[in-house]
Amino acid sequence: MAIDDQEDNEFFDTGRIVMPGAHVGEEEAVNSLRPSLLSEYVGQTKVKENLSLFMEAAKGRNDSLDHVLLAGPPGLGKTTLAHIIAQEMGTQLHSITGPNIERKGDLAAVLTNLQPGDILFIDEIHRLQRTIEEVLYSAMEDYKLDLIIGQGPAAKTIRIDLPKFTLVGATTRTGLLSSPLRDRFGVQLRLDFYPPEQLEAIVKRSATILGISVIENGANEIARRSRGTPRIANRLLKRVRDYAEVRAAKRIIDREVAGAALALFEVDNRGLDFMDRKLLLTIIEKFDGGPVGVETLSSALGEERETIEDVYEPFLIQEGFLQRTPRGRMASRIAFEHLGKTYQENLRQLPLIESPKIT
Ligand code: ADP
Repeated sequence: MAIDDQEDNEFFDTGRIVMPGAHVGEEEAVNSLRPSLLSEYVGQTKVKENLSLFMEAAKGRNDSLDHVLLAGPPGLGKTTLAHIIAQEMGTQLHSITGPNIERKGDLAAVLTNLQPGDILFIDEIHRLQRTIEEVLYSAMEDYKLDLIIGQGPAAKTIRIDLPKFTLVGATTRTGLLSSPLRDRFGVQLRLDFYPPEQLEAIVKRSATILGISVIENGANEIARRSRGTPRIANRLLKRVRDYAEVRAAKRIIDREVAGAALALFEVDNRGLDFMDRKLLLTIIEKFDGGPVGVETLSSALGEERETIEDVYEPFLIQEGFLQRTPRGRMASRIAFEHLGKTYQENLRQLPLIESPKIT
């Protein structure tokens, strides 16, 4: 599907507009929006401070950077950071995705192609198959690759020296990483959701690059509704531009135009989209506000458990709409009020009884 077709469909696909995962073709389209230097990367101050210190020290020693693990929900800038690291270190970036590596040989081929100091970026590293992951242990620690040649009794292992490279791993959840792998990352950094003022800066920067006219209160409105996520901020900016060009009397994006466009796309004033509201409403209406097990929720919503946990929950939890308890997920008072439902304090405070609905 051509990028343009994709974008046209997206315009009407209101339920998915704030999905933080990249749409097909979108990354190519937004490459120009990707900051290429640390100084252009908005927010995440602690992460930037740490990285620039480690990079400077490695450069001073003429050494490669230690392996870096970047964790955080989709769309917060992990891939962007990997590109920035390569750029700032003056090296090449080789990029692969965990679930796409099917055989040990695929990984071996990538590893043996690296030059000293190169960055190997593995996205969704928690989804690497365990047997393939094991290849990484000696590669990361000793820069050696053990290859088995032949089969049966004639099989023998040969050791290949690898150049000193840097592995940058990205994961939506560190909890899913095996500890031998996690422990081999010398630098472990966590990206947080962005506050509105930083998203506003990102919206303004992107608008300048794309030649979109947006005034302060328009950028602010888009930022406020972007679920704390730069990828969503950029996407909403483009969709609001479409709206301004087609439906609005003026082409300049201000609060009014942004608000009207986002209302049309069913992104509410807290940045919740159709799916976020459906998730909360399901807990409230079908499960009396919870607790409800994530598996049950997954079947009730027809969404993969992983999508619920990686994509929807982190933001809903951070904003206080959802609580994760050992007995399952619960909608908070804020969620009830935001969705215009009556919150029954007494009911909520009853001792929790194991319910057959919970998995
Ligand atoms: P992830 O790998 O975490 O899913 P990406 O690195 O692909 O996220 O970021 C998504 C998009 O958001 C990028 O194309 C980039 O334009 C934008 N972006 C992410 N982080 C920042 C940032 N800190 N400053 C400016 N733009 C950003």
